[in-house]
Amino acid sequence: MTNLYDIAAAIRRSESILICGHIMPDGDCLGSVLALGLSLEAMSKKVVMAGPDPIPAIYEFLPGVERFKTGAPPDGVYDTFIILDCSVPERLGRDYQDLLTSKKVIINIDHHAGPGILGTYCYIDTAAAAVGEIIFDLLKLMQVSIPVETAINLYTAIVTDTGSFQYDNVTPGTHRRIAELLEFGAPGAQINILLHEEKPKAALVLLREALHTLTMSPCGKVCWMTVTLEMLKNTGALDEHTEGLVNYCRSIRGVEVGLLFREILEGTYKVSLRSKNIVDVNMLAVQFGGGGHAKAAGCILQGALREVQDKVTREAVLATGGTA
Ligand code: AMP
Ligand code: MN
Ligand code: MN
Repeated sequence: MTNLYDIAAAIRRSESILICGHIMPDGDCLGSVLALGLSLEAMSKKVVMAGPDPIPAIYEFLPGVERFKTGAPPDGVYDTFIILDCSVPERLGRDYQDLLTSKKVIINIDHHAGPGILGTYCYIDTAAAAVGEIIFDLLKLMQVSIPVETAINLYTAIVTDTGSFQYDNVTPGTHRRIAELLEFGAPGAQINILLHEEKPKAALVLLREALHTLTMSPCGKVCWMTVTLEMLKNTGALDEHTEGLVNYCRSIRGVEVGLLFREILEGTYKVSLRSKNIVDVNMLAVQFGGGGHAKAAGCILQGALREVQDKVTREAVLATGGTA
């Protein structure tokens, strides 16, 4: 596998770079793209930061976010295409996937389980809590300075992918990097207020509706909730307000697997899977064409809601050692 020195050398050789993350961008994806993009610009590279989907309102405070282009890949000539926080071509979105066949230098930096996107350079560290940790290491290795704007982006990347330092992907190295980011000026408490205490009321109304759908398997080890397009319409909540709902399912005593079924198109459901201790939900998600990490994964299924729920909850119960 490629190492970070090879990637640093490839970046130094490049002149014009397109950096993107995954569909439905999260804090790690956006923070990592912006931190790397702004740093490469400071090295006089021509940089475009982009992704297919809109940016959730809670991330609008990220420095440089106004430069992030959403929608189809922006026109332009790039010699290098850097893909962050994305392990499968499908999660790039159709238009960005097409770029994979172009004759560019492709650099994939990620922390998900799986083979990664096989480009010219592929660096995957599943032990990294966030891609933000890897970007932090890369910038240090390249001896690039970390201004407060970059520190805010990297702090956000790491704090979001660790569930505010609660998940077991957190290591001493996570806290060491965070300590340095605080020293570089990232206002930790302020960032956490912006991320968690600035929700619109509709987000809580959606939570109320979603809690009405809370269902437990008879064995008590699998728990799930549902968000339909109709619920989003009736509450005025947006897709981004479903973030974190799945944690309520996992938070119940005895529950090993929490699931959220979210209708993203009529008859198409995004399933978020979260594990407490014993189940590798990445393996579960892979069974349905998705992926992720051992404790947090996702997949997309088509069909009637009941069918989709039966299929996934059945496998989840089996994975906990129960009988479906
Ligand atoms: P989510 O439930 O969307 O928060 O995703 C949890 C984790 O699983 C994240 O690390 C995602 O990158 C990953 N993931 C979500 N959906 C998919 C998918 N369809 N294919 C592969 N990985 C996914
Ligand atoms: Mn992500
Ligand atoms: Mn990530």
